Amino acid sequence: MSSEHALPAFAGIVVAAGKGLRVGGDTPKQFRQWRGRSLLWHSVQTLRGAGADPLVIVIADGAQADAEAALDGCTGYRFVTGGATRQDSVRAGLEALAGHKPELVLIHDAARPDLPLPVIERLIGALDKHAGAIPTLPVVDSLAVDDGGVMAGKADREVLRRVQTPQAFRFADILSAHRAWQDQTTAGDDAQVLAASGGSVALVDGDERLKKITFAEDFLQDTNTLPAFRVGQGFDVHRLVEGEELWLCGIKLEHTHGLAGHSDADVALHAITDAVLGAVGEGDIGTHFPPSDPKWKGARSGQFLEHAVKLAAKAGYSLGNIDLTIICEAPKIGPHRPAMRAEVARLTGLAEQAVSIKATTTEKLGFTGRGEGIAAQAIVSVFAKGSSS
Ligand code: MG
Repeated sequence: MSSEHALPAFAGIVVAAGKGLRVGGDTPKQFRQWRGRSLLWHSVQTLRGAGADPLVIVIADGAQADAEAALDGCTGYRFVTGGATRQDSVRAGLEALAGHKPELVLIHDAARPDLPLPVIERLIGALDKHAGAIPTLPVVDSLAVDDGGVMAGKADREVLRRVQTPQAFRFADILSAHRAWQDQTTAGDDAQVLAASGGSVALVDGDERLKKITFAEDFLQDTNTLPAFRVGQGFDVHRLVEGEELWLCGIKLEHTHGLAGHSDADVALHAITDAVLGAVGEGDIGTHFPPSDPKWKGARSGQFLEHAVKLAAKAGYSLGNIDLTIICEAPKIGPHRPAMRAEVARLTGLAEQAVSIKATTTEKLGFTGRGEGIAAQAIVSVFAKGSSS
């Protein structure tokens, strides 16, 4: 299944009845902003986009005005009032759908706004053979059992899984399982409710992006509106003249000509530096190292790049990768590429595999073709520290 059109019909329930107090503040977290919209908006839009129809949103009694505001422009849903517990709320959603007799249903938490379509495809695919399917992830940390602040034992992470939502079910099975569910004391999820009535639940691969927004930090990362991932590009040209040294990527090359400029005129490092600065919106190389300042006369350009990487870190970003293209007829870049790559990696703290150095000619056309100068362009990606991307 590669597109939503290949998915069979399914109904959706978004559970948005919680108070979400752990995140802090007066507004229930499903109504709070994340990437420019409410959590609820994101969760509903993705399910609708994947084809969920009909779709019910379970909200707390009296929360309709807040929910409508949070859904700003969404269509194709219906509100249902939830109950005292999550089970009660899901049950209310299922009962509201019963008249439609859907074959399949996805039950989702509003607090998981980033829902990749392939997860939905895996879940629904698994319902061919099972009454239920849940997205899970392996446990990567080691586990301890807490007995009042003392370690009482260890749990085997190999057999444990982190369970996410949405959870997918054959509608008739999950409805009857909920109707039969008697255990009012245990806060189980819907898969546990189904399993308790004998239904088989398939485990499919979840996705780290589906993580539940729980703590205030998840919002903090977002409230300054800085995206988790950004790119920057840089471009530079220097003249080739006789009697100058030729520095490229912090490496001195033997050549008939060298590059002219106020600093060492390392056109490649200048392009990368501008790309880093561009990615974090910190101006350009001239802002930080003005050619009018005699201090930078003959300066090695590696320090410009190191400074740009520090500014990016100060803005909360780590470098992801660099892709550089050097444009000239001569000298040949290939023989020097390993040394250049190692030096750029050293200056930026990146692994060499994250540094790409490419070269091209312009077929003897233009100023680079005539050997009057060397041009360089670079693209750099940066990601917010602490983000998983
Ligand atoms: Mg320059």
